Amino acid sequence: MSKSNKIDLIVGGKRLDGRDFFEVREIEMKVNVVNNADGSAMVRFGNTTAIAAVYGPRLLLPKFLQEEKAVLRCRYNMTPFSTDERKTPGHDRRSIELSKVIKSALEPAIFLEDFPKTRIDVFIDIVQADGSTRVASINAASLALAMAGIPMRDLVVACTAGKINGCLVLDLNGKEDNFGEADLSFAMMYSKNRVTLLQTDGEFSYEEIEILIKELKKACEKIYEMQKSTLKDYYQKYVE
Ligand code: ADP
Repeated sequence: MSKSNKIDLIVGGKRLDGRDFFEVREIEMKVNVVNNADGSAMVRFGNTTAIAAVYGPRLLLPKFLQEEKAVLRCRYNMTPFSTDERKTPGHDRRSIELSKVIKSALEPAIFLEDFPKTRIDVFIDIVQADGSTRVASINAASLALAMAGIPMRDLVVACTAGKINGCLVLDLNGKEDNFGEADLSFAMMYSKNRVTLLQTDGEFSYEEIEILIKELKKACEKIYEMQKSTLKDYYQKYVE
């Protein structure tokens, strides 16, 4: 979305939704939310909700598409009812770009080489959009992959940061994303300290990026712990 700074996004030292600058919205995570999927998850950051469903690994056909490793396919979709004004249904340039971004953020974490000639499908639907949908998608997809039993080097964890009215903040909501000066989407394999996505829109100084990466890593640690405890809580019933 284009960046224009027409509205006050910080009033009385707080953001419009009452948050401090480096405060992340309320996060909710659930797993096994789609019965027919091999693995699925829902992740909510404030009013942004992503549902991810994973199918596979399954045989990739036609044969000429097969590779010596699994092919990861990601499809990001924003539902028509997810925004204030009805979004035109179906794929558009933005969803094609986001599908590609999400795939490249997840790919380094998966042992694709263990499953030659197969495909792993990741379907992500945004049912409520209020900023930072791509990082909510990555968090949900990562959990859904784990639920599907896909071997991974680590969970991928993601968050956004940005600059609004000249101030650095974490986890942009829709207004901040659309009317702020700049945003940064970030994903990493937390325990490996390996960044898998770093994408910016707008301008940051080198020092600003340094501050934001430090804060993003702190936020990612919390999100990572939540992902792990969501998975553990789900499987707890099987060990009791
Ligand atoms: P991200 O959601 O990953 O931040 P964008 O920067 O493209 O990706 O979008 C920012 C926000 O703008 C979205 O989260 C959503 O709230 C809003 N938005 C994006 N596309 C549309 C659309 N077609 N209609 C209404 N709102 C949209």
